[in-house]
Amino acid sequence: MADQSFAHRPNPDGSYDSICRRCLSTIATEHDKNDLLAQEAGHVCNEEDLLRISDPQTWLQEKFGIPLVSDNDVANEVEG
Ligand SMILES: [Zn+2]
Repeated sequence: MADQSFAHRPNPDGSYDSICRRCLSTIATEHDKNDLLAQEAGHVCNEEDLLRISDPQTWLQEKFGIPLVSDNDVANEVEG
């Protein structure tokens, strides 16, 4: 049994999107909710998605090599 829950969003065409509440990814779109459950059972959150949500600064640094800037550094630059 999966340890996370999924939101089911109805679409105009009668199908449902299944959205992982943990990584916020739309993992499947199916007309039959049983098919959604099967896809949910096999879903594994992408670690990068989790990091992007929980710690955007670190994610930016790791993905783009952007150095972290603290609030103090910014304040000093403005004053100088
Ligand atoms: Zn997920």
